[in-house]
This record gives sequence, C-alpha cells and structure tokens, in this order.
Amino acid sequence: MAINWFPGHMHKARKEIKKVMPQMDLIIEVLDARLPFSSENPLVPSLRGDTPMIKVLNKRDLADPDVTTQWQAWLEKERGVKAVTLTHNQRSEATEILRLAAAMVPHHDRQKSALRVMILGIPNVGKSTLINTLAGRPAAKTGNEPAVTRAQQAIKLPHNILLYDTPGFLWPKLSPEACGYRLAISGAIRSAVIEFEDVALFAADYLLDAYEDQVLARYGIDERPADGLALMDAIAARRRFFRRGGVPDLHKVAEVLLNELRAGKLGRISLETPAIIGQEISAIRENS
Ligand code: GDP
Repeated sequence: MAINWFPGHMHKARKEIKKVMPQMDLIIEVLDARLPFSSENPLVPSLRGDTPMIKVLNKRDLADPDVTTQWQAWLEKERGVKAVTLTHNQRSEATEILRLAAAMVPHHDRQKSALRVMILGIPNVGKSTLINTLAGRPAAKTGNEPAVTRAQQAIKLPHNILLYDTPGFLWPKLSPEACGYRLAISGAIRSAVIEFEDVALFAADYLLDAYEDQVLARYGIDERPADGLALMDAIAARRRFFRRGGVPDLHKVAEVLLNELRAGKLGRISLETPAIIGQEISAIRENS
C-alpha cells in the first residue's frame, strides 16, 4: 500500500523531540485505544531513557473493553510506564492523570519548580482535546483533520505542571506492515493519501475474523461471506451500492464501512491485540 509518511516533517520533529526530551520530568503519550501498538511513537523507547511515562489509551469508548485491558497490562510491562484509559469529556479522569504524573516523580519539589511534562501523540488521536480538558480552557487547537496541532508550546496546568505540546506527527511504523493499515482505518492518515478501497478490504477481512457477529448484524447479512471482498460485495448488495451495469460500487462501500467503523457504528472494536502483534512480529523475525 502506498502511504505518504511525511518524511520531511518527521525528521524535524525527531530532532525537536530529541532536543527537548532530556529536559522533561515525565512523558505523556496519547495512544488510540483501538490500536495502542500501531499508534505508538517508535522512537520514544530509545529516546526517553529513565524518564517516567504515562500512556493514555484514548478513545476508549470506541475500543473493545476486554482488549483494552489486555493492552494496559502489556504496556505496563515496560519499565517506568503506567497505562491509563480515557474518553473525551471525562474531566475528572483527565485531571487524575496529572495527579498520577506528580506521583510518578516523587522526588520533584513542585513548590520550587514546575514539573515539566511532554505530551506526544499522532494526529487525530485526541491530544488537543485532552490538553484543553487538562488546561480547563482552549489551549490547543482541535479538529477532525489530522495535523492540526503544530507549533510547540508550553501550557500552564494546575499543580504547577508545565505541559510541552509537540507537533502531532505520524511516525513510520512500517513494520509490521499491518500497522499502516490500522492507522489508516483509524483516520490518522489523511484520506487523500491512502488507497481507500485497499484499506477497507483490510478492515473487512479483519472484521470478519475478529468481529463477525457485529459486522454481519450492522449490514443485515445472514450468511458469513467467504472473505473480506465477499463481505464488501454483500454490503454493496444490502445497501444497493451499484455502478452502471449492476457492478458493486466498492468505492462507496469502502467509504461507508470506514466511516461507520470510525464513528463506532459497528460497536466497540479494537484493531489489534497483544497476541496479534506478537504473531506479526514473530513472522517478521522468522522471515528475516
Ligand atoms: P489531535 O489531532 O490529536 O489533537 O486530535 P483532536 O483532539 O483534535 O481530536 C480529533 C478528533 O477525535 C476530534 O473529532 C475529537 O472530537 C475526537 N476525539 C477526541 N477524543 C475522543 C474520544 O475519547 N472518543 C472519541 N470517540 N472521539 C474523540
């Protein structure tokens, strides 16, 4: 699949993060609860050293709760990492993150100096929404289109915490390759640069495998289609998406399937589990 990973921006962001990170007391990374592994910044483990870290699994409302619990345990295997879940408009839960941040740096005297916290997250993950909730005012720009968050800024938060916002860049987690598809499904990659139907086909195959009942119920399909493509054909038939000559309009199906999946209309769906990622990584190791 051809995905444009914005390499120029990435290089600049990497340099910025590398420069700023050593000055930080704590790092908050906002992940998409539906794809915690694919939405991680792959550079952070090597750049952060001993700096404690909170991973926020955001958009919990869209993810499969059992899978999210598995991810929390998996992420906390990493030294110095706490994983919490979040959904927007939960102000008290969001501010709890600040309390946790302070508790994770117990030696820091906040009477003397501010606790410096860096916040990271790929575009569209909900980072700006979280920042605004924490600040109690519109301190960061939000929007539906990725890459709204740009310039770096320090934001004053309660408990003498200074929050350093970093640009929301998409990082090249090129392997396993499936991570790119999952990012595309989640909406992190601009729709203009992705192969829409290809991404929807990946989603259709996965849904049939992992959430068969939910996807069939949503589209009123009685019999299990043989594969993702057959599922897309069946959706075309049910929704009457045809081109001239009665050919299934797969572009239209792709659009509807991805939009409905993103909006949570198929129910709470996670796009990866620790077991799936484990298998994909083993397969890569075996092949190399
Ligand atoms: P940013 O690019 O990471 O700063 O993302 P934004 O904060 O602008 O949010 C991107 C989109 O995700 C917006 O439409 C938000 O309303 C939506 N969003 C943010 N948090 C959540 C959440 O917890 N659940 C759901 N369903 N949507 C969210």
